[in-house]
Amino acid sequence: MKIYNTLSRKKEEFEPLEEGKVRMYVCGPTVYNYIHIGNARPMIVFDTVRRYFEYKGYKVNYVSNFTDVDDKIIKKANEEGVDASVISERYIKEAQKDMEGLNVKEATYHPKATEEIGGMIEMIQTLIDKGHAYAADGTVYFRTRSFDGYGKLSKKNIDDLQAGHREIKVTGEEGKEDPLDFVLWKPKKEGEPSWPSPWGDGRPGWHIECSVMSKKYLGEQIDIHAGGEDLIFPHHENEIAQSEAANDKQFSKYWMHNGFLNIDNVKMSKSLGNFFTVREISEKYDLQVLRFFMLSAHYRSPLNFSADLMAASKNGLERILTAVERLKGFGGADGEMTDDEKALYAQVDAYVKKFEDAMEDDFNTADAVTAVFEIVKFANINVTGDSTKAMIEKVLKEIETLCDVLGIITEKEEELLDADIEQLIEERQAARKAKNFARADEIRNELLSKGIILKDTREGVQWKRA
Ligand code: AMP
Ligand code: ZN
Repeated sequence: MKIYNTLSRKKEEFEPLEEGKVRMYVCGPTVYNYIHIGNARPMIVFDTVRRYFEYKGYKVNYVSNFTDVDDKIIKKANEEGVDASVISERYIKEAQKDMEGLNVKEATYHPKATEEIGGMIEMIQTLIDKGHAYAADGTVYFRTRSFDGYGKLSKKNIDDLQAGHREIKVTGEEGKEDPLDFVLWKPKKEGEPSWPSPWGDGRPGWHIECSVMSKKYLGEQIDIHAGGEDLIFPHHENEIAQSEAANDKQFSKYWMHNGFLNIDNVKMSKSLGNFFTVREISEKYDLQVLRFFMLSAHYRSPLNFSADLMAASKNGLERILTAVERLKGFGGADGEMTDDEKALYAQVDAYVKKFEDAMEDDFNTADAVTAVFEIVKFANINVTGDSTKAMIEKVLKEIETLCDVLGIITEKEEELLDADIEQLIEERQAARKAKNFARADEIRNELLSKGIILKDTREGVQWKRA
């Protein structure tokens, strides 16, 4: 299996640290709002990487964090006049709902930064003891030049970086020895969440969180560390510096980065405001379509979001689901596969090989999807009601297995009947009347997950199918 390693800028043969096991860490979202579909790209592609490893028989320890303490969370909490944890808990729940809709498997561990502060203080102390970090007025900085390999991931030269830094010191950073140094611990500000530490009350910097959570749940050395390509510098570069300086071991063997999801060839991001949340998209499309769309490109290529491409993905997905339905509708003849069927089935084996070859070539999901289409086409032409049950089931099983590797659910969702919808709406109205808003929201969300959108108007509740 070949993986493109950002560290070497080459495709390398995958060799696990431990036979049959993969230790994998994927940087998760900062939870201050609904996740947008750009954030969904790493979730989907690395979930697919995980699924392929599992298909190949590896046991995968998959860790993905939630960054639940951050300036943006605190800002939002202040705007709403609530505690930061109210904001982060709310959006962790919402992100989990979206991930479920995208059929992203639950991680083995989903650590939250605020629950791992002890480990962060410990690692920062180790770095200070080893001379890689220093405290100044309640802030702790990483001494960047003390780590020899700095720049090895992003291929940045430390002297060029130095030249790019303006010499003006930011207020509050007077104690910084070198402009290249970055923050490990920052002192408490009024109205911000904080934790006690040997350097005074404060909170951790963003980079140290991942180094610590990765170490706790996966060990000092891991196989794969992944995230969007915007994380290469400084986030992942700094993670390497912290972890390798603290543990004296190579941190991650392979570094994988997904390309951006763009709109009109510009990166989708919250700060630019050019984003759609997964929730918005779920009102227009089944989220399976979004997943299928993401897998239609290689994960390292930029991908432009457009209604046309989503329509093409919807059609493609429909083609697979229809073929599965058709196969399920056949009774089939009893007995073993005939010799003719066995000979024909060799074609399916060849397509499965094509699927695997594509996935083994740095997870080329675009080609893997093509191989699934070929099996679908094969089934539509060669499998009929006259085929043996054994043949029908074997082809069906193969399509289902490969779709499962891609995280595509082949069961068609049952369509809700109008009467069922009306009944749920009535139940929701009754719940609201009884001030049971949690139940009312639950019903709304349940309907939404089935593509039914409610609109409260003066004339009562109106609904439509997405
Ligand atoms: P953030 O919450 O901004 O830290 O992002 C969480 C994850 O989403 C990171 O791995 C980012 O690299 C990734 N990400 C954010 N925006 C995009 C985008 N437009 N396309 C692809 N990945 C993105
Ligand atoms: Zn991270």
